[in-house]
Amino acid sequence: MEKIPFVTKEQLEEITMQYPTPFHLYDEKGIRRTARDLYEAFSWNEGFNEYFAVKATPTPAILKILKEEGCGVDCSSLTELMMSERCGFADGSSIMFSSNETPVEEYILAKKLGAIINLDDITHIDFLKETCGIPERICCRYNPGGIFSLGTDIMDNPGDAKYGMTKPQLFEAFKRLKAEGVKEFGIHSFLASNTVSNEYYPVLAAIMFSLAVELKEALDVNITFVNLSGGIGIPYSPDQEPNDIFAIGQGVREAFEEILVPAEMGHVSIFAELGRYMLAPHGHLVVRAIHEKHIYKEYIGVDACAAHLMRPAMYGAYHHITVMGKENEPCDHVYDVVGSLCENNDKFAIDRKLPKIDKGDLLVIHDTGAHGYAMGYNYNGALRSAEILLQEDGTGRMIRRAETPEDYFATLEGFDF
Ligand SMILES: *Cc1c(COP(=O)(O)O)cnc(C)c1O
Repeated sequence: MEKIPFVTKEQLEEITMQYPTPFHLYDEKGIRRTARDLYEAFSWNEGFNEYFAVKATPTPAILKILKEEGCGVDCSSLTELMMSERCGFADGSSIMFSSNETPVEEYILAKKLGAIINLDDITHIDFLKETCGIPERICCRYNPGGIFSLGTDIMDNPGDAKYGMTKPQLFEAFKRLKAEGVKEFGIHSFLASNTVSNEYYPVLAAIMFSLAVELKEALDVNITFVNLSGGIGIPYSPDQEPNDIFAIGQGVREAFEEILVPAEMGHVSIFAELGRYMLAPHGHLVVRAIHEKHIYKEYIGVDACAAHLMRPAMYGAYHHITVMGKENEPCDHVYDVVGSLCENNDKFAIDRKLPKIDKGDLLVIHDTGAHGYAMGYNYNGALRSAEILLQEDGTGRMIRRAETPEDYFATLEGFDF
């Protein structure tokens, strides 16, 4: 699918007069549209709820938009819980706490905020009991092991993943939790990341629905929700086809009607913890070309670096680039688009065909709305960028300022700046 920026060159020029590059820009309209489509696609399930994975974009202004669209949040750390509380999610049903290797103070806060605790391991039952008590509603994370494939495509390798419980552990955990007084149960599993396939959720749903029926029949437990977690992906590359969320919703519905309804479990709610799908396409990293260099290859140096977007350096991930104002010019140059870190993997694009880039050009790096700003770091003394919201009226509003050297030095002892 062709990659078109959600912002015009004129809008960006206006925004950059007030807020210098680099910055992450988010599209409020697009975020709302994606959230509405998701809820519509699952409207057949009365209790459907999306718990946005905060780790993807831990920014209060974004969380508030999602809250207005009816979403809850999925947290996995102390500060994510604190941020979610401040954003008004601590109402007893809007926080999922899907953590692992969890420190005790995180369980204590999660329980205090009325979060649904999603236990990653059977040993955490005792850990929870000894520290803050077992809540009446709880979720357990399942890991089926082995290899997860869709048809002939190997999607991921759950057997190598550190998360979740084996099937015998899950049955044992439910038995013990029931004895401890748990009244409402859920099951959760996350088997593959960034799937660009309408099959992933329906296949996962069928596995989980069958498991729910087995658990209910074996242990007479009250299962009220199935959490399909994250994993619905986006087409980072223009030659990939995007997922169709309505086809996905329909596929899950078919599994639901085939497996849960006949088992008299038609009241079960479907939960999701999508991060990437909700936000990735609705973020751009906006940078400016500041240098060009001609050695053995052609380089364009930009004013951002891997500290602002780690995915290309870390995973070799493709992020599409648009040179603003040159959308219709031929891509007759081949560039490495690079940042300033003293790390040779600090490259946003390698051997990328692009129109001729001149110093001063604005570049949009696509699909940075999830795991973009969030994975930022300070290596080489790089400072994290600002975050700007492109509001529905087309104007930009700063929702997080850029870091300053004072922020960078702030945690040092005895170093007065
Ligand atoms: C990362 C994560 C998610 C979100 O995953 P996406 O692929 O971004 O949708 C959801 N749940 C848990 C437990 C996670 O760790």
